[in-house]
Amino acid sequence: MTDPELSPTAPTGGTELSPAAPGGGTEPASAPVIVRALVARGSGAELRVERVRLPAPGPGEVRVTIRAAGVCHSDLSMVNGTLAARFPLVLGHEATGVVAEVGPGSQLTVGTPVVLNWAPACRACWWCRRGEPWLCADTTAPTVPRGETDDGVPLHLTLGLGALAEAVVVPERAVIPIPAGLPPEQAALLGCAVLTGVGAVRNTARVAPGESVAVVGLGGVGLAVLSAARRAGATTILAIDVAEAKRDLALAAGATDFLLSDDRLSKEVRARTESRGVDHAFECVGRATTIRAAWRLTRRGGAVTVVGMGAKDDMVSLGALDIFHSARTLRSSVYGSSDPDREVPVLAAELADSALDLGVLVSGTVPLDEAPAAFDRLARGEGARWVVTLD
Ligand SMILES: [Zn+2]
Ligand SMILES: [Zn+2]
Repeated sequence: MTDPELSPTAPTGGTELSPAAPGGGTEPASAPVIVRALVARGSGAELRVERVRLPAPGPGEVRVTIRAAGVCHSDLSMVNGTLAARFPLVLGHEATGVVAEVGPGSQLTVGTPVVLNWAPACRACWWCRRGEPWLCADTTAPTVPRGETDDGVPLHLTLGLGALAEAVVVPERAVIPIPAGLPPEQAALLGCAVLTGVGAVRNTARVAPGESVAVVGLGGVGLAVLSAARRAGATTILAIDVAEAKRDLALAAGATDFLLSDDRLSKEVRARTESRGVDHAFECVGRATTIRAAWRLTRRGGAVTVVGMGAKDDMVSLGALDIFHSARTLRSSVYGSSDPDREVPVLAAELADSALDLGVLVSGTVPLDEAPAAFDRLARGEGARWVVTLD
């Protein structure tokens, strides 16, 4: 680990990061920079774009100029109190950008396009050594403040990144090089929604050709699961949401049917699965009620994969006899059970040669100043993914 905190002897001034300096490099080396970032000052507080001071990259760290950052439900959960958070908090954890400055000893080159990784693996702990880097035990980074507000308060960063900002300073193991020239609003999604959705299908559930799938909750991750299920060869792909407005998006993403989550849901699913229920249900909301719904839609011996990140006091109740008799598997998929360092480059290559089309996932792009409005749309369940783009 490197020391991510501002050195007490660091200059307190800071250099404005010129938006006209793509790739950076114009400011003096090893000086803090001032950038604009989307900040929440408290749980439920209004989101505001503020000037914040980033430290110079220390040993093994890099500064990345952000090109695009998605507005993900986990950011919203940090703001509305579903997930515990410390404030002031820079939002954002799904982003792409360009390496602008490297700290001492970094192996990366200025100008390299990258995707940010919110769960960088230490490669040394018990889980990393057994090939499960998504469960890495080194989780200190997201809890350590980095940089400060314009009025000198230490800043917390969503999932250790705080990527809804003009730039971030992160450990170099939290960045993954990608090919140049990818559409930034799509490349950004590789870092959370797409890696999570694709990984849940390929790595966690291992959906096989001809299998049936139900996806409960059609935000960015749910839509990514639908599209991954289609690519995995699933033949019955049921998209389920409470909002009828998601129908067209779901069908465009790869669903064979769209079903409203209402009293008739179980009957509708059984009508499409020879009365058995689906082989795989993916819960992409993170609530006890939807986890129970996913459980009920799954056939005997099938698997429920929980992809949504829920609240710690939202308890799921299942009957003991039901657990035994149904022989279902209930498990979670953390970051798509993936190794981002290995899998993001594969997805980026698929995006580059058009094998992967993420256009349907991007509902629109907005400038940083309109990010608070994008959060409002996310909270209302409008669209798929709203992406903040920066020049
Ligand atoms: Zn996310
Ligand atoms: Zn580890």
